[in-house]
Amino acid sequence: MGKKILIVGAGLSGLTAAAYLSKKGYQVTIIEGSSKIGGRAKSFHYKGYRFDLGASMILMKDVFEKVFSELGTKLEKELNLIDCNPIYRLIYSDNKELDIPHGPNKMSEILEKHEKGSGGKYLNFIKNKAILYNLFVNKIMNNHYKNHLQLIKAILKEKNRWSFVKSISWSLNDEICKIVKNPRLRIALMFNVMYCGTSPVKAPAMLGVLDYAEQKYGLQYSKGGIGEISKALWRISKKNNCKIYFNTKVKKVLSSEGKVSGVELMNGTIMNADKVIYSAPLANAVQKKIIPKKWISKNPLKMKMSCSSINLYLGINKTLKNIKPHTLFMVDDFYDNLKDIFDNYKLSDKFCFYIHSVSQIDKSALPKNNKKGQTIVVLAPTPNLKHKITSEEIKKIEKTIYKRISNYIGENFEKLIVAKKIITPMQWEKDSHLYKGAILGATANTFQMLTFRPNITTKIENLYLTGSDIYFGAGMPLALACGRTASQLIINE
Ligand SMILES: Cc1cc2nc3c(=O)[nH]c(=O)nc-3n(C[C@H](O)[C@H](O)[C@H](O)COP(=O)(O)OP(=O)(O)OC[C@H]3O[C@@H](n4cnc5c(N)ncnc54)[C@H](O)[C@@H]3O)c2cc1C
Repeated sequence: MGKKILIVGAGLSGLTAAAYLSKKGYQVTIIEGSSKIGGRAKSFHYKGYRFDLGASMILMKDVFEKVFSELGTKLEKELNLIDCNPIYRLIYSDNKELDIPHGPNKMSEILEKHEKGSGGKYLNFIKNKAILYNLFVNKIMNNHYKNHLQLIKAILKEKNRWSFVKSISWSLNDEICKIVKNPRLRIALMFNVMYCGTSPVKAPAMLGVLDYAEQKYGLQYSKGGIGEISKALWRISKKNNCKIYFNTKVKKVLSSEGKVSGVELMNGTIMNADKVIYSAPLANAVQKKIIPKKWISKNPLKMKMSCSSINLYLGINKTLKNIKPHTLFMVDDFYDNLKDIFDNYKLSDKFCFYIHSVSQIDKSALPKNNKKGQTIVVLAPTPNLKHKITSEEIKKIEKTIYKRISNYIGENFEKLIVAKKIITPMQWEKDSHLYKGAILGATANTFQMLTFRPNITTKIENLYLTGSDIYFGAGMPLALACGRTASQLIINE
């Protein structure tokens, strides 16, 4: 058994694989291109304020619990989780608000109040999604099916197989339209699919499992920043003698006699290994010829990529109580906005955006000398770089966001800003190595899920892949699941 493992990338999927393998006694070395661990799930400080670069909220807490427990510890011991309640605040174009509570019965009451009969239909929907969620988490996420046939065979053995088949052949939009008529409530039940980088209109009914996960487990924030998750995984690996090289970029994955044998670094150094786990974004690796595309089960460059985003990281000198930790500014032409982002690759005049504001629930995000302020991270989804966004367009988006928030809070929002940093689609592409600046990798539509995506195993021996473009798809719990599965495949060999 080869014991020397190289892991490229210290994002959550790479760190999870490192934690499992080092705990089992493998000699693990991580090569990280930047100066920090965490990848898209890292926190950073700017002018005293702490921000989360990408991922902000923990969904599917049960997956985190399982991973930490298998690693010999407990989630609550490693992280201090804060519940986010309401789960979201939606603010519509006329500034009317809808708070999404934690708990299916409470949500059903809200729906019933707006539309008679919708509450019961919603509870049935959640019941059905619970079956699918359990099938997904307990069966699919615990195994790696290399092809459609293996996956179908496994699903056909399940009692709830027809629910699964229906869920990938039906659209979520059709299902939600049968529960409620009001377009605003429909949006409330399905915008969360954008977490997978998918247009809710195009999403398969399967992705309604996110509604179930939100209602069952709620949404949490990790006190001290989302970067605490990667720190916890790194603590386990470090204890088990895992090594890490920072500011070290891999130029090429190397092979010898038809097997992967190590990597070449940008400075020309060769590092040999028995196995390599490539956990950095795959589409970028293929585009930059770090990995030849013939080694991978599916060419990631031919996949439809998710949206990009303009992120504003703002420190303001006032607390705006109406802006909840998780707030969404919606537009009535939501469907048109989605079409522009995902299909037309153009910017909409009216667009939705999301705010992640944690300082109300975690004061440690504020500078030591300014506990009266607030941190606001705005994420405005944009088309990926199939649309070549200009600096004038970015400026216009920024101004539109300030105007919209000002209209809601009743004062000039821009005047409250004391710290500001912007990340554009071009920066996501360059600094986070995301092909076309697609923040969530390849989109998760019916023909780009599971065995339709590149496998964790490859066509060449000793190379494994993890991350958002692979098998499970985007999101922190799926990154953990992917790193876990890759390590299990190596351990079980
Ligand atoms: C804006 C945004 C918001 C998000 N919100 C959420 C959320 O709220 N909840 C959620 O669950 N998920 C969210 N996600 C998704 C989640 O952050 C990602 O799916 C997950 O963190 C990806 O982890 P990863 O290990 O696959 O890859 P990454 O985090 O991309 O890590 C890859 C690592 O590889 C390194 N690397 C790249 N190329 C090389 C190279 N050649 N050599 C060496 N190192 C290299 C990078 O520096 C990086 O550290 C969000 C993502 C973004 C961008």
